[in-house]
Amino acid sequence: HGDSLSALLRSADIAMYHAKHEGRGRAEMFTAELALEAADRAELERDLLLGLERDEFLLEFQPQIEMSHGGVAQAVTAEALVRWVHPERALIMPGAFVPVAEESGMIVALGDWVMSRVCETAARWARSGVHQRIAINISTRELAQADFFLRLRHAMATHQTPPPMLELEITESLAMDMDERVLGQLSALRQDGVRIAIDDFGTGYSNLARLRELPVDRVKIDRSLVRDIATSAEARTICSAVVGLIQGLGMEVVIEGVETQAQMDMLRVIGCTLFQGYHLARPMGEAQYLDRYATAPAVEPTERRSL
Ligand code: C2E
Ligand code: CA
Ligand code: CA
Repeated sequence: HGDSLSALLRSADIAMYHAKHEGRGRAEMFTAELALEAADRAELERDLLLGLERDEFLLEFQPQIEMSHGGVAQAVTAEALVRWVHPERALIMPGAFVPVAEESGMIVALGDWVMSRVCETAARWARSGVHQRIAINISTRELAQADFFLRLRHAMATHQTPPPMLELEITESLAMDMDERVLGQLSALRQDGVRIAIDDFGTGYSNLARLRELPVDRVKIDRSLVRDIATSAEARTICSAVVGLIQGLGMEVVIEGVETQAQMDMLRVIGCTLFQGYHLARPMGEAQYLDRYATAPAVEPTERRSL
């Protein structure tokens, strides 16, 4: 079954690819090859549903680290990232099932599970004195549900989650596309203390006038804008301009996907203080996260303090 699942995940990706690139060319779906892929996809959807019923998902947490001028590094937010513990396979990463869950609508049920688990965890952290926010990834399909905010508020009430313990991550393209109703609901949540972040900034098209008007606290700069900054002057110029622009709008900048010390040194010169990436920590289970980050701030090695 293990092999067939991996084949299945692969063809699910192929089907997604076709669905996206063929647009409305529905006739395409009737070729034998694609009919097979569609069947595989249906199987993945069934497997996902079963996975939800059997409680096969878990959250990992990746810290966002704030670097002060004094060289003190402190975790300030944990991003919750979903994983699928399939009974016959190693951990399955979200890239292999979140897109299919989004296309099939299953993301609403999966998102509910994530939301409820995050609310429960955040409430527990607050009670034990760990005042680090937990960030939730919200997909387009979820936000399109008329009762999304009702369900979120219900989860918060059920677990008695302090609103300042939560952060919502909304992708750039979705943020640019939100209607008045959604904007109003986000503003209300923000007024209550929930923080709103724009995710994957730099991968979509942003209307700057609109960005300024959004009820947003922070912007997460996508890895693609950061990848080459240690080696390319051009990449550095672009990154620096984007960071300045967002800070100029009064929003916090978080840099995603920091993989090397050289990148981080460069980013600190540009004026960034908040970092997330493999260079600092990979996503990890809750116990390990609390073990490493629920304690007093760590001081950086002396040789790096000069920056
Ligand atoms: P994302 O929201 O952009 O999350 C960051 C992804 O980048 C994570 O991958 C994380 O492990 C990875 N990452 C962190 N630091 C580095 C780095 O230094 N280098 C590189 N190359 N990668 C890094 P992950 O966990 O596989 O998640 C992938 C995507 O799946 C997420 O991208 C997000 O869009 C989606 N996702 C994850 N969990 C959820 C969820 O609960 N709900 C929804 N709707 N989507 C989710
Ligand atoms: Ca994210
Ligand atoms: Ca991101």
